[in-house]
Amino acid sequence: SPKIRVCIRKRPLNAKELSSHSPDSLTVRTSSHPNAHIYVHRPHRRLDGTPATTTHRFLFDDVFDEHASNLLVYSAAVRPLVRAMFKRGGRCSLFCYGQTGSGKTYTVFGPEGGRPGAPGDPGIHQHACADIFRLLSLANRRRAPRNLPALNCTASYFELYGGRVFDLLARRAPRQMMEDARGDVQVVGLTRVRVGSAEECRRQVERGNTERTTGRTEANDTSSRSHAVFQVVVWESGAGVGELDGVGGTVLPGGDKVFSKFSLIDLAGSERGQDTGKGGTRRQRMEASEINKSLLALKECIRALHARQPSGPVCPPHVPFRASKLTHLLRDSFVHRSSRTVMVAAVGPSAGGVEHTLNTLRYAGR
Ligand code: ADP
Ligand code: MG
Repeated sequence: SPKIRVCIRKRPLNAKELSSHSPDSLTVRTSSHPNAHIYVHRPHRRLDGTPATTTHRFLFDDVFDEHASNLLVYSAAVRPLVRAMFKRGGRCSLFCYGQTGSGKTYTVFGPEGGRPGAPGDPGIHQHACADIFRLLSLANRRRAPRNLPALNCTASYFELYGGRVFDLLARRAPRQMMEDARGDVQVVGLTRVRVGSAEECRRQVERGNTERTTGRTEANDTSSRSHAVFQVVVWESGAGVGELDGVGGTVLPGGDKVFSKFSLIDLAGSERGQDTGKGGTRRQRMEASEINKSLLALKECIRALHARQPSGPVCPPHVPFRASKLTHLLRDSFVHRSSRTVMVAAVGPSAGGVEHTLNTLRYAGR
């Protein structure tokens, strides 16, 4: 099964775009299944001033149109990752990429950024958690008669902003990062909450999302300028000797040992990465260049994963995970033997955003 899949998700036109009669600039063709095409119709003017449209075509592992629900995206793209978590050593991650307003947070956490009580289409995290706990109890029922230690879960949720980690399950407390002897980055003191059910997991996500979205004015809203990482770790009870405790840590103080990991990453808005010009304040430029660095590093890591497919070259390329805090923190996802990664690149359909959409499709394309 493939180590990496790259999918595109097109969101519907929003109320503002509909009321301004913005044309839909994207056509999705899924008839070429298992791969699918997306066509971008870019309006422009010829040299003589007459209006024209140029169509650009892109091929991806999957393309979801504006009618796709989060459940459909989950079933088609993410469920295989959750299944892979119940093999020892599974390292599964979902990255959502795209410009601000393209639907990243909707995809991962659902409408309204996954605030408690938000109506409608629950985010991918909720479908994933439902499957994780169903499969966990099945796995434990099989393990018990064979005297295998039970599996259990912890949840963590943090933001990576300006190269620093903020713990969303501890009122955004800043956390130190430290590289250990194996080259894994540890987040010292990151909150890890034991979760015994999908419901408990959802409560932790909602806690973190409330931290992300409330009490923030436009000026201090970091949600489009930070990467949000929600992580579920499956532990094997008492199998190890107590050791370091961090996000890369593989043994808990009680001796529980990492069995597998699942990471959901809602990336910073990609427009920040492109827009690193001279404008803005010093802080804005620092943010933009940090985002730029991490999104470029992510692209290189994903490219290296493509090349590591069974069909790829005999000598796989070096994975440049050290090039940013984001990729260094998620090193596992790129170098682990049993890593599986899905990238969902989100795009908006309005003609006014065509250049951003093309940038996103080029970023996600091979
Ligand atoms: P991002 O996180 O990329 O900045 P959001 O996920 O916040 O973007 O989405 C922007 C707006 O568009 C939100 O109001 C969201 O509810 C809406 N939206 C995004 N994707 C969809 C979708 N697939 N279906 C319906 N509404 C969507
Ligand atoms: Mg968002």
